[in-house]
Amino acid sequence: MTQGILIKNAYVIDPLSGIRGEIMDIAIRDGRIVEEAPPGSEVIDAGGCLTLPGGIDSHSHVCGTKVNFGRYMSPEDMRAGRTSRKGVMHVTSGYSVPTTFGNSYRYSTMGYTTVLEGAMAPLEARHTHEEFTATPHQDMLANTLFDGNWSVMEAVREKDVRRAAAIVAWTLAAVRGFAIKLTNPGGTEAWGWGKDVANIHDPVPHFEVTPAEIISTMIQANEILRLPHSVHLHCNNLGVPGNFQTTLETMDLAPPAQGDRQTLYLTHVQFHSYGGTTWRDISSKSEEIARSLNSKPQVVIDMGQIMFGRTTTMTADGPMEFKLYMLHHNKWSNHDVELETGSGIIPVYYSRKSLVNCVMWAIGLELALLAKNPWQCLLSTDNPNGAPFVKYPEIIALLMSRRMRENERKEIDPRTEHYVPLFALDRELDWYDIAVMTRAGQAKALGITRIGKGHLAPGAQADVAVYPLKPESLDPSVDYQQVMAGFSRTLYTIKRGRVVARDGDVVVEGANSTIWTRARVPPAYDMGSDPEFTRKFDQYYTVRLRNYPVQDVYLPRGVCIETEAAL
Ligand SMILES: [Zn+2]
Repeated sequence: MTQGILIKNAYVIDPLSGIRGEIMDIAIRDGRIVEEAPPGSEVIDAGGCLTLPGGIDSHSHVCGTKVNFGRYMSPEDMRAGRTSRKGVMHVTSGYSVPTTFGNSYRYSTMGYTTVLEGAMAPLEARHTHEEFTATPHQDMLANTLFDGNWSVMEAVREKDVRRAAAIVAWTLAAVRGFAIKLTNPGGTEAWGWGKDVANIHDPVPHFEVTPAEIISTMIQANEILRLPHSVHLHCNNLGVPGNFQTTLETMDLAPPAQGDRQTLYLTHVQFHSYGGTTWRDISSKSEEIARSLNSKPQVVIDMGQIMFGRTTTMTADGPMEFKLYMLHHNKWSNHDVELETGSGIIPVYYSRKSLVNCVMWAIGLELALLAKNPWQCLLSTDNPNGAPFVKYPEIIALLMSRRMRENERKEIDPRTEHYVPLFALDRELDWYDIAVMTRAGQAKALGITRIGKGHLAPGAQADVAVYPLKPESLDPSVDYQQVMAGFSRTLYTIKRGRVVARDGDVVVEGANSTIWTRARVPPAYDMGSDPEFTRKFDQYYTVRLRNYPVQDVYLPRGVCIETEAAL
């Protein structure tokens, strides 16, 4: 059946197509953007409202065992965001760790159509995929954890980049993963022995490889496999005062880019930009980090902004969560994933009365304001670690309005300004910057423009968000409340050519896709028949190799991006 939509009088910003704000029409047919809408199409009059490609979240925690355990841990959180059944909308609950439908509907009403789950443990991939299927309105991708993978670390120790690449290729295809995620590389494995790694040159116990060696080898492996995304890294020493040195040293590991895409993506960099030596003298080192970023086009970061209020923190970085638990003494969970990785979870409250929290809040904003190129600094909260993603509109408003930042300054700990440069920054981001930081930049960094994501040129996937904001008459510097409200609730969210949300209500059952990658390797590099790999697998894992791969039934609508490895 031919389905068409014609959006008229749209104020379009489509950075990947070079459109920086033009009144134009957008035509949709059969889920794709086309030159001309078919006869009988539904007509939507956008009336000069801001119209963007569907939002893309390139780092969020919404699905999988860790997320689900976060739900168990905080029944009070589950009570917070309850909505009853309405039309096609299922019951939802939860604020910082909502149900999958809660996540999906909230993203939809904010105009988001694609979400990358930040950390999937390969052994527990089925759970992630089951929850992807129950996140109906967003296409999903899974960052796949390799930070403490024993086979990978052995290949790193042998300096065998090709073998590391082969292990990655086999694993991503087996678990239907999208990209390489390294979380505190080596540190989570060390935590299995009650330790952590102190810096990027500190060897992992029993493996005698360093985080720097793991990172560099995996960057090379990633490029050999020609994966769409780069290595996606959560640096060592997250949340440790003085950790900016580790972050700078890590950025120096990124080799120059061969093509248009970065060679290293650093996530939630706010948590990695601290000066000082203890929590008492923690300070912002955003200027040092931004200076390095501005000189390295091969690096892309996301903000990891924190916002004040209650949330749940969750990460594969087990030792970090333990350190955080020792500060808060609230609830704590820790989990080891055999031969691969681990995780930790604690609920937190970020307070305007806490100087440390105020410094953290300032740093995230500073990174975005100091990064000269918006394509290199993407908007995120590391949902829900820095804040639930429903806070994005407030972050956008803060970035677009110095006046709003000044108003917030009056509410926070007055000592903050001695430790951060935020209030000396005049910059106010514009609509184009925001469009880059919330969709176009993500699509480019993830390498998914090739499947029509993140832009509105003919042939692109018809994922479109129309916001009740009129850039031609609205001054975001002054009318920041309106900016916040407008980005919270689209007039229309269109997913693959169907209106899925209108005026804050979800109007159809969804049917999302899961995007995964398969790098083709020569038979000699097929780990499924490699004697050493299979012997070790059978010896150490509690599951058999044949039971490990995720069956197709878990991905009812899988989209595979295939590459040809240069092996
Ligand atoms: Zn994360």
